[in-house]
Amino acid sequence: MTSPTPAVVRIAPSPTGDPHVGTAYMALFNWLEAHSTGGRFILRIEDTDRTRYDASSEQKIMETLGWLGLGWDEGPDKGGPAGPYRQSERTEHYRAHLEKLLASGHAYRCFCSEARLEEMRAAQKARKAAPGYDGLCRGLLPEEVEQKLAAGLAHVVRLKVPKERTIVFHDELRGEVKIEGQTIDDQVLMKSDGFPTYHLANVVDDRLMGVTKVIRAEEWIVSTPKHMLLYEAFGWPAPAWRHMPLLRNADKSKISKRKNPTSLTWYQEQGYLPEALLNFLGLMGYSSKDGQEVFSLEQMLADYDAKRLSTSGPVFDLEKLGWLNGEHTRRLTPERLTARILEHLERRVGRGLVVAGTPETDVLAWIQAHGGFTSPAVRERVRATVPLVQERMRTLMEYAGLARCFFVDSVKGYPPEDLIPKKGTLELAHQMLTTARETLAALPAWEGPGLEAALRTTAEAKGWKVGDFFTPLRVAVTGAKVSPPLFETMHLLGRETTLARLAP
Ligand code: GLU
Repeated sequence: MTSPTPAVVRIAPSPTGDPHVGTAYMALFNWLEAHSTGGRFILRIEDTDRTRYDASSEQKIMETLGWLGLGWDEGPDKGGPAGPYRQSERTEHYRAHLEKLLASGHAYRCFCSEARLEEMRAAQKARKAAPGYDGLCRGLLPEEVEQKLAAGLAHVVRLKVPKERTIVFHDELRGEVKIEGQTIDDQVLMKSDGFPTYHLANVVDDRLMGVTKVIRAEEWIVSTPKHMLLYEAFGWPAPAWRHMPLLRNADKSKISKRKNPTSLTWYQEQGYLPEALLNFLGLMGYSSKDGQEVFSLEQMLADYDAKRLSTSGPVFDLEKLGWLNGEHTRRLTPERLTARILEHLERRVGRGLVVAGTPETDVLAWIQAHGGFTSPAVRERVRATVPLVQERMRTLMEYAGLARCFFVDSVKGYPPEDLIPKKGTLELAHQMLTTARETLAALPAWEGPGLEAALRTTAEAKGWKVGDFFTPLRVAVTGAKVSPPLFETMHLLGRETTLARLAP
């Protein structure tokens, strides 16, 4: 078997807000490509659009990708041979390359005012013609350009698209893609503020950073012919192209905030596990050889074969993510899950997300009162509860609701009618509680199976159905109708607390 050519790949997110799930999706497939070929994975920050720039975004991108375990080999924080990795710090490269394009005639200066461009667009619209620059400044003579420059007129630089040609490139998932030159706009490469546009900066950087394969979302495919023209104009070989299908809403539209949570931070804060989110994003673009649905990043890497990438628009299904998250939660050792629960709570406190009057506040109050997140007593208490809730949790966020009864002195506060067994009365419920209390108080030892056996015997003696009998017990002991397993809960709470909660 020949070994694969090491691929140098990158993601190039723009720091324009909360890190997007689409960024994680692309990071995952780039990471897999780099790791399966022994190549390199670069993180480049494309921050040339100063109007949409958000200063906190870069940090959040790095934080969430790090959280997912998708580390990069070169990037703004790490440096590397082709740094800096932030486009705003590389403007001299773009200027120098732009000069080359101007000199070779592949680009031209355009002095059209915004007012003229408006007029042109309006006229195109009225004629129902395709929008695009009409090429007025293409024909400027060198001395006219000099004059305008000397007069200090604002201008942009545009790509001189050969309108008569057909641009062809190969996409690894779609095969040959052809685009007629006449449909391609004379793209602005440098704006009047001296900042390059995405197209110029992206191509120059991919070249200077040695990127051999561009793996990005399908939405960029319309830009690729322009990028091909730039590679050609510079006399550079183009990288290989792979445009991945877009993540979609259930109605097949491109994934959007209105229909799905798209912020990675949201998933983190809602207690999704990074390995579950990666698994989910993996399934969106890939099917494993043996049809396995639940896998870790390591398993995905071991299985990974670019031939198994899918080309159809994957629908983002939160229900499925919840299921996967439950699966991954159950795969964690109790120690790991304990650590995750505490990390999650600490993150929520740190970000000011905790809402007063929720089970989370109760759990946190206990933690605070017992030495805080790093205290061994806290760790031990959470660790002790984990086996009781691990089966039932779908997200880390659900922990507090399920485990609250272990962190409060009293669970009172539930509606009394919750105690009432099926077809019973409140009076019967109270009678059941008293009886249970007497049975349990008389037991010599306090352990789960013994508690259950004794209570079953009592139920039988009284002629109560066990299900009916356990209803008020569950509510009185845990404060909720849905709870961790009742007898294990009683066991963990201990004799004194349990008997106190059963008291009227
Ligand atoms: N800056 C672009 C983005 O925000 C990069 C697209 C590409 O990968 O070429 O996704």
